[in-house]
Amino acid sequence: MDENSFLLNYLSFNFALGLIQMSKHKTVIIGSGPAGYTAAIYAARADLSPVLFEGLEPGGQLTTTTDVDNFPGYPKGVLGPQMMNEMKEQAQRFGTIVQSDHVTKVELSNKVGGIHLVYDGSNNKLETQTVIISTGAAAKYLNLPSEQRLIGAGVSACAVCDGFFYRNKEVAVVGGGDSACQEASYLANICKKVTMLVRKGYMRASKAMIHRVNSIDNIDIKYHHEVSEVLGKEVVEGLEIVNNQTGQKSRMATDGLFIAIGHTPNTKLFENQLEMDLTGYIITKGKTTQTNLPGVFASGDVQDHQYRQAVTAAGTGCMAALDAERYLQELPNQ
Ligand code: NDP
Repeated sequence: MDENSFLLNYLSFNFALGLIQMSKHKTVIIGSGPAGYTAAIYAARADLSPVLFEGLEPGGQLTTTTDVDNFPGYPKGVLGPQMMNEMKEQAQRFGTIVQSDHVTKVELSNKVGGIHLVYDGSNNKLETQTVIISTGAAAKYLNLPSEQRLIGAGVSACAVCDGFFYRNKEVAVVGGGDSACQEASYLANICKKVTMLVRKGYMRASKAMIHRVNSIDNIDIKYHHEVSEVLGKEVVEGLEIVNNQTGQKSRMATDGLFIAIGHTPNTKLFENQLEMDLTGYIITKGKTTQTNLPGVFASGDVQDHQYRQAVTAAGTGCMAALDAERYLQELPNQ
């Protein structure tokens, strides 16, 4: 880059930054999974000039997955990170300003037509008429002290991110849902042996997923088993497991432990401001994405613990943008 174009880029970057910080926005979208980007595509096309905060995990949970085979329009499947990059590109094509930053605080107005305040990682304040919350959900852990101590040293919640380190080794996967089956079948391709530890006598996963793990030779499924201790000083060396029917404890050697027991919604930022259910998911009204505060909408896994699919998240992202657009249209003096 020559000196002039560097200067031009520098000036336009700072000008854009200044605009972002000073002006009042129509829509700020928090989160960059399928819900956030779909909301951005619709909001941008409706001239709402959205600013989207990518958050601490740009692209959301799909960036930690491999093949997505069930998103319509990809007959051969698509890699999760690739799909998210394409959604981002599509949102930017229509003018979404994507901020590689996370939101640290919000002050949400409870008045119709009120201004909501959104603070970025450098404590800059953005004023906005509407907020679309698409912050998703985060992986749950067992919360055993020995497990927590060894996160990153053999304990992981993402096979796609960390499976590579266990090539030809033995690993265990905890959980009996679709995530656990997906993690186990992914790891079975890389590892010598995968042991699934399922606490019930059956799996909650879909029939197709159960069939898949049952048909893979190097996956061993132990029902009625839970982890009581993760063994190892510096790295995971094994597990103490307990048969929850007999109470009998035993030890098994393993090089890695993958936890796949579900997710917690990322809603801490909105505590005491938005109505949530007992497990922390944001409550939306009826068939809309409207929260209990005017001009604040929620889409994706942060408000949906039932379906939790990329395609349903994208659908509610679209709904949130349409709800925000309608809300703005109905305000006096718009
Ligand atoms: P789920 O909530 O469906 O399953 C969680 C699993 O973890 C259950 O088997 C549960 O056991 C077990 N579990 C929970 N807590 C513990 C614990 N403390 N110790 C041991 N086991 C525990 O979560 P998933 O993440 O699997 O799936 C969430 C949603 O996402 C689902 O709707 C699923 O269909 C979807 N999904 C779809 C995929 C796809 O279609 N490709 C891939 C991944 C997820 P129990 O049954 O006893 O409660």
